Amino acid sequence: MTERIYYTEPSCRVFEATVTHTSEHDGRPLVTLDRTAFYPTSGGQPFDTGRLGSVGVVETIDDGDEIVHVVSAPVAPGTHLRGEIDWVRRFDHMQQHTGQHVLSAAFDRLFENRTTSFHMGAEVSTIDVAREATSGEIDRAVDEANHVVWEDREVSVWFVSADEAARLTLRKEPIREGTLRLVEIRDFDLSACGGTHVSRTGAIGIIAVTQSERFRGGSRITFACGSRALRVFRGYRDAIAGAVRILSVLPHELPSAVERAQLDSKDLRKTVSRLQGELAGHEASRLLEDAALVGDRRVVVQALEGWDAAGLKAIASSLVAQSGVVAVLVSAGNPIAVVVARSHDAVLDSSKGLRMLLDRFGGRGGGRPELAQGAGLVGTIEDILAAAREVVSA
Ligand SMILES: [Zn+2]
Repeated sequence: MTERIYYTEPSCRVFEATVTHTSEHDGRPLVTLDRTAFYPTSGGQPFDTGRLGSVGVVETIDDGDEIVHVVSAPVAPGTHLRGEIDWVRRFDHMQQHTGQHVLSAAFDRLFENRTTSFHMGAEVSTIDVAREATSGEIDRAVDEANHVVWEDREVSVWFVSADEAARLTLRKEPIREGTLRLVEIRDFDLSACGGTHVSRTGAIGIIAVTQSERFRGGSRITFACGSRALRVFRGYRDAIAGAVRILSVLPHELPSAVERAQLDSKDLRKTVSRLQGELAGHEASRLLEDAALVGDRRVVVQALEGWDAAGLKAIASSLVAQSGVVAVLVSAGNPIAVVVARSHDAVLDSSKGLRMLLDRFGGRGGGRPELAQGAGLVGTIEDILAAAREVVSA
């Protein structure tokens, strides 16, 4: 059975121990010690990493009575060695975990809103509370929690029997039997917990909520403490600095500036669309002047430069709004697009005509007897126009 140094000395970062057992799992060497300060993943807190003698500890696992260290290279049984925890990583976990106790206790004391789960991620952590929390409630809980941080209250650990625990008011009910480890934040919170915590609340630094969302009938609240809160702040600062530089406004003016830019852009899109429509109309008039008269139909077969597929369609629609017109328009650029269209009173199956062009020059498309559109044709413009003339005279 491994002695868990972190239970009684959570600030221990260097320790001496003896290897009691070694094995291998999935090609990864495993080491068990007589005692360890390495914390295994449990209770929402991730595992510690660090060194055992000359090898690295890449993961720590709770295996019931034993703590198993996944190491970077095998170690011989019986070896006496020095263990050292990656303290930057562990201290960060202690800040987040203790901050979670304080924040959960604040929701509990102010609003009787219990924390049902806790998860510590790589960047931010979350608690889930049983009832939906309003943004006003979240602000009040965060204020209360930070007062407890700044009062620098003592965080103590003690052990009690299950009987003794039953007589105490615990915020978080124990899930273990037998001797319980209690974590107390003086005059604020008492919970059963096996994790590692800072020894005074001041070491949490600050507790900041970055987001909240509805979750399973309650709320999922995302928060960051200490160094992580500073990192989140720096990320926001850089993002806001970039946005205010581009928009030339003050930070508090950003939401209205973005809204204004979106409205402007919507207006511009409308104007561009109207002007394109007008331009297509003028282009259609010009083409009609040069139209060939074939029987009682005016025939327009033209290659046009500088128009995309939507532009071609707009011109074709404008052409066939007149009576007695059949038209095949080809975009002169790459990829080659084509529109076949006819007036309501002219004789031509546009979709059949398009099909003949696509069969010969490749590409895809389709449409109705009045108007059909295709793209991706391969060939010279001259060949396509010659084929188009056959199509409209057929
Ligand atoms: Zn805890």
